Amino acid sequence: MMNVSVTDIIKACMSLGLFVSINQRLDAETINIVAEEFGFTVEYIGAKEIEEAIQIIEDKEEDLKSRNPIVTIMGHVDHGKTSLLDFIRKTNVIAGEAGGITQHIGAYEVQLEGGDNITFLDTPGHEAFTAMRARGSKITDIAIIVVAADDAIMPQTKEAITHAQAADVPIIFAINKIDKPNANPEKIKEELATMNLLVEDWGGKFQSMDISAKNGTGVDGLMEKIILEAEMLELKANPDRLAIGTVLEASLDKGKGYVSKILVQNGTLNIGDVILAGTTYGKVRALYNERNKSVQSAGPATPVLLLGLNSAPAAGDAFNVMKDEKEARTIAVKREQLQREQGVRTQKHITLDEIGRRLAVGGFKELNIIIKGDVDGSVEALSDSLIKLSTEEIQVNIVQKSVGQVNEADIMLASASDAIIVAFQVRPSVAARQLAEKEEIDIRTYSIIYNVIDEIKAAMEGLLSPDVVEEIVCSVEVRDVFKITKVGTVAGCYVLDGKIHRNTKIRIIRDGIVTYTGALGSLKRFKDDAKEVAKGFECGLNIDNFNDIKVGDIIEGYEEKEVKRTL
Ligand code: GDP
Repeated sequence: MMNVSVTDIIKACMSLGLFVSINQRLDAETINIVAEEFGFTVEYIGAKEIEEAIQIIEDKEEDLKSRNPIVTIMGHVDHGKTSLLDFIRKTNVIAGEAGGITQHIGAYEVQLEGGDNITFLDTPGHEAFTAMRARGSKITDIAIIVVAADDAIMPQTKEAITHAQAADVPIIFAINKIDKPNANPEKIKEELATMNLLVEDWGGKFQSMDISAKNGTGVDGLMEKIILEAEMLELKANPDRLAIGTVLEASLDKGKGYVSKILVQNGTLNIGDVILAGTTYGKVRALYNERNKSVQSAGPATPVLLLGLNSAPAAGDAFNVMKDEKEARTIAVKREQLQREQGVRTQKHITLDEIGRRLAVGGFKELNIIIKGDVDGSVEALSDSLIKLSTEEIQVNIVQKSVGQVNEADIMLASASDAIIVAFQVRPSVAARQLAEKEEIDIRTYSIIYNVIDEIKAAMEGLLSPDVVEEIVCSVEVRDVFKITKVGTVAGCYVLDGKIHRNTKIRIIRDGIVTYTGALGSLKRFKDDAKEVAKGFECGLNIDNFNDIKVGDIIEGYEEKEVKRTL
């Protein structure tokens, strides 16, 4: 359309530090710049049309009425999330009248004795929370973080706190299991204080309540605190408008067809409304509440089960009520096309190599980093040094830092907050690695703090990747160990991936954490010395100056490779 030759476009890309091929897709930012080079302005029709088609209704102040708060319960496994939800469900006043909650619809409304209502999302666990946020939907008003008083602040507690804070959702702490003889709520509060989270009793701003989800002590108090927090948030919605909201879950039911569990966030959803949810649409055929009762309509902060969509929308999809079914269908189809397009887009998330390009394009202001490390000391040291790299132009944010293997939750958090992951002396789990590939998250593994700082600094200055990079050349699993006098520990191994060489530099990884870095002492196939052993073969080996090999350890071979700078 620009009537410019391909070579000229490629040249223009090169001047941006991008080496592209003739049939490569460019992202929007690059397209803008390239077009500008030739005196054109780009208009994106697809996405814009779609947005314009959905009228954004601005509610007038006088139409707004207060609505229920929507609450998510998060916390470490076994600290009592499910028990708390169960107890709350049992005390529900509505449930008392109508025979309790019989349907799982992703959320439920609870009426307190004082007449106040609270809507609880009943997908405990922060995976759901982050997954929703990664899709750009914010549905939770308040997060309850459950901590067992006979335990401590655990990794998932920290994670939950980070997730809530990243989403800017107020937190109320529920310190649980106080009925237990060894419970010590004060210790938990002290631990929270050391994390800069001062609870009320300690003169801070965070509400907290000592509870027992088992016998119900303090649960009333917790509910009051939720109401108090909700009052401060002044949650309002307009019940007299076309409904909007979020899909919590959807599935195909043999008898009923596509069943979607949704939460109305504003407006009122009625039977017969034309609804558009993500790439699906349809007419509302039936609505059911959590007591499996058919209802005619659902107002703000009400969860319902919906029948009538033509397919299953994805959890976290926003839904809108449209005036006209044809329009809904057109948008659904367009969205699907756009989704397919985006699926083939090459780069969605930030990588270290991309920083330079985004800098050139302008508007790159924040670098979000998640740090995982082998010990607290190095995590803290790294975090301090990286924050200090902040300049006037780019702010470095440490979204999360913790000790341990890179897990799936880290990847989801990175995806939701567009962060890169710095893994210091630790490795991603297999599942995390797969997820990272799918979500296109950049995981940088390092063994020397100085290298981390250097590389990130260079990237922030718009420089390109360093001259020397480490490449993992093989991974070998230890399946048996033998102690042999005079020789030391010999490991019987299996090569999982790549090729191990007699001179390969190696690291020993135990439970995702690097425990030793060194070189092989010997490498054998059966009784003979071997030069190299390839994937799928067994071998015997020992490691120079290291005898503490254990079954299950992964021996990772790496090479330091010189790479050409690409500018
Ligand atoms: P979740 O993994 O966070 O959902 O935790 P659960 O609700 O499944 O609770 C884990 C265990 O702790 C279960 O065996 C519960 O019975 C127990 N538990 C939960 N809350 C309490 C409590 O307040 N007191 C006592 N004694 N046990 C509790």
